Amino acid sequence: MRKLQNERLRNLMHYVYERVPFYRQQFDRHGIQPSQIKGVDDLPLLPFTHKQDLRNNYPFGLLAVPRQEITRVHCSSGTTGKPTTVAYTAGDIGIFSEVVARSLAAAGCKPGMMLQNAYGYGLFTGGLGLHFGAEKLGMTVVPVSGGMTERQLMLLQDFRPEVLCCTPSYAQTLAEEIKRRGIGPQELNLKFALLGAEPWTETIRQHVQEGLGLQASNIYGLSEIIGPGVSQEDVEEPGSGSYVWEDHFYPEIVNRDTGELLPEGELGVLVLTTLTKSGMPLLRYRTNDITNIYYDRSGRRTHIKMGPIRGRSDGMLIIRGVNLFHTQVEEVLQKFEQLTSHYQLVVSREESLDEVEVHVEVNELLLRDLCLQQITIVEMCRYPVLEELSASFCKRLKENTGLTMRVHLKVTGEIPRSEGGKLNRIVDKRQVYA
Ligand code: ADP
Repeated sequence: MRKLQNERLRNLMHYVYERVPFYRQQFDRHGIQPSQIKGVDDLPLLPFTHKQDLRNNYPFGLLAVPRQEITRVHCSSGTTGKPTTVAYTAGDIGIFSEVVARSLAAAGCKPGMMLQNAYGYGLFTGGLGLHFGAEKLGMTVVPVSGGMTERQLMLLQDFRPEVLCCTPSYAQTLAEEIKRRGIGPQELNLKFALLGAEPWTETIRQHVQEGLGLQASNIYGLSEIIGPGVSQEDVEEPGSGSYVWEDHFYPEIVNRDTGELLPEGELGVLVLTTLTKSGMPLLRYRTNDITNIYYDRSGRRTHIKMGPIRGRSDGMLIIRGVNLFHTQVEEVLQKFEQLTSHYQLVVSREESLDEVEVHVEVNELLLRDLCLQQITIVEMCRYPVLEELSASFCKRLKENTGLTMRVHLKVTGEIPRSEGGKLNRIVDKRQVYA
């Protein structure tokens, strides 16, 4: 494996230096010759690639091939303004399909099984990624896409697929819905589920497994690297980590503050290098996902494993599958002079659906006009100005983030202030990080 990785990396160095102006400039600025990187142990000599670099080169500035050689484009979900674009050659789509096919096999799937794909189709990588991988493995794909619970349930009953792919929170929704309708899991034919795109816990696993009568495993990935299928849990080894397909995606763990490489097993930021992609290869991409990597000597496979995602070093939240940065809320806040910059986001999960509340203090002058000491929802109805304020803030938030949030207006001093340390603007009650 190491020999293969080193060989692939050496080729990649010359490839990106010759084809991607961004990397050529980076190498030149750091005084690095492509030939200096002889293997993966030399990777720490290279600077990181950040999400901002993708934004700066939007949409096609990081391509290593002419645009005409790109077979497919995807985008990362949820962010404001310009999304980050990723582009695949036909060869890259082949790699994507192969790693997803491998993931499906590790999750228990076999050729001939039927897979109901409830990941969203479209710019999001989940739908098409799983679709092509399942076809490659020789499965029968039912491309339902996300949502439409009624239809999902009908197909689960009528087509009797063995495999379900979706986000863990949507699997919970389906489990709750069949229970509510009095359908027993034994009436379905499900055996396996691949759940991912957002963090989840052992409690969720138990809930989904019992509710749907199947074995659920974790699939991890990100669009910048390929999409789902960067790593996958083996169905026989639940909870022990996910195998990283390291012949294609070389993982490193670095200290979140210093960027230094950390030894096997230690928690830090996951950094990935694409060893084989040709359309938009990335070197040392900082995922911002906090995890660890380690070899499991008693595992069924020999690839390195990664633990569950313990958090994000950039504070990004994943709400109902949509990425949300608290800075997006701040951007909207700045446009409302009746509101202050004192706010807090409270995230919770109600019946498996994520809910976001925005608590924000109202400008003191406005409060004085209204002679208010506190604001309760009931009271708000008596003050049309507050109701309107809350409604238009809510609308702008939706436009800017794609998410419907509940707005709670507060009086001065109600939102905690920093006491010297880092101010916690986000209260995540979901306990999704193990
Ligand atoms: P998209 O929502 O389009 O996939 P991204 O590629 O930006 O958007 O999302 C990737 C991010 O989703 C990862 O960096 C990680 O934070 C999160 N993610 C994906 N799969 C998992 C998983 N199995 N467990 C925890 N987090 C995950």
